[in-house]
Amino acid sequence: MDLLDTLTAKGLRRETPTREEALAVLATTDDELLDVVAAAGRVRRQWFGRRVKLNYLVNLKSGLCPEDCNYCSQRLGSKAEILKYTWLKPEQAAEAAAAGLAGGAKRVCLVASGRGPTDRDIDRVADTIAAIKDANEAVEVCACLGLLSDNQAERLKAAGADAYNHNLNTSEATYGDITTTHTYADRVDTVTKAHGAGLSACSGLIAGMGESDADLVDVVFALREIGSDSVPVNFLIPFEGTPLAKEWNLTPQRCLRILAMVRFVCPDVEVRIAGGREVHLRSMQPLGLHIANSIFLGDYLTSEGQAGQTDLDMIADAGFEVEGAGEPTLPRHRSEAGLGGGCGTGGGGCGDAEAETGAHACGTGGCGPCGGHTPEATDTHENDELRSDLVRVRRRGAGTELAPNA
Ligand code: SF4
Repeated sequence: MDLLDTLTAKGLRRETPTREEALAVLATTDDELLDVVAAAGRVRRQWFGRRVKLNYLVNLKSGLCPEDCNYCSQRLGSKAEILKYTWLKPEQAAEAAAAGLAGGAKRVCLVASGRGPTDRDIDRVADTIAAIKDANEAVEVCACLGLLSDNQAERLKAAGADAYNHNLNTSEATYGDITTTHTYADRVDTVTKAHGAGLSACSGLIAGMGESDADLVDVVFALREIGSDSVPVNFLIPFEGTPLAKEWNLTPQRCLRILAMVRFVCPDVEVRIAGGREVHLRSMQPLGLHIANSIFLGDYLTSEGQAGQTDLDMIADAGFEVEGAGEPTLPRHRSEAGLGGGCGTGGGGCGDAEAETGAHACGTGGCGPCGGHTPEATDTHENDELRSDLVRVRRRGAGTELAPNA
């Protein structure tokens, strides 16, 4: 297939595909699906071998958010029966993180619900980072605390944070349909602040909110431009009690096409299968590993994932290996540009052969439609085929008396 040969060649050269080529990946048929996975897999192996990076979520503060992101189980007015609690103490967070690290994770993602942190919250997170790094110096810590004010990114960097997550989630054109309490520009501003402070930018998307193929391509090109080193790809978990509870728009095949499109647009960037992996890819998860080089181990912020050991078994059975703590995730040309070395901008270059290079969060299970957009009819469940049986609210780990899943 000419399209896939072209995209593979471009991915191996870190060359940017055209928008039309990215759209064409999303329009491929089920008959072509394994060819799409194989082509994206060649690009993945070129830059990341058969390594799978494991990340571990610690929900520092759950629910009770004043923002109104339609996809999020923690939103204002959410009726989802999720765990609700305020800030974990540093030692509680460190204990949860230790379980993930013992399970093989190399990055801990510290997430708190809310519009953004106060300066006092930054102090709390700094203490938490210290508690985690005191026990395990090699761990990567990513903070995800919402919109940042001036100097907060610098303070997190000084406290030892390695990365900051803030997802763009969807296209600029669609953004107002999913949230009214902040803007797409606010989100771009926070990713820019994090990047400017020397934090590695982690920013991704949520698919399945009723967006069009053009919206998906728009947000992925925007993530390339903004310099994201890691791109979490969330698949909407339609929580009962949220405005998007009936948005069951994804099939495993569509999820794989979306992942492949992200890989072709950002060939040398960490592509992470985030929230919704088990819910939407289901038995096709191992094929996702051929495209993405990163997943979350265990549970998500407000929903439960499959058992951590099942994640590890799946990786081994599929012929992949867990990335070790001492192994760099990013290819040398990107890591030499610094953890925050951007993508598609002067410093970076996901897909740019010329330039080397929640909550608001990944894994909320939040994240969807936004209304106003018609899902691709050939590639979706009927909307009345609700699979809410697949969504399990988290009842263990942080904020409970039960051991975390890792
Ligand atoms: S995504 Fe973040 S800001 Fe939006 S409602 Fe959820 S916790 Fe609040």
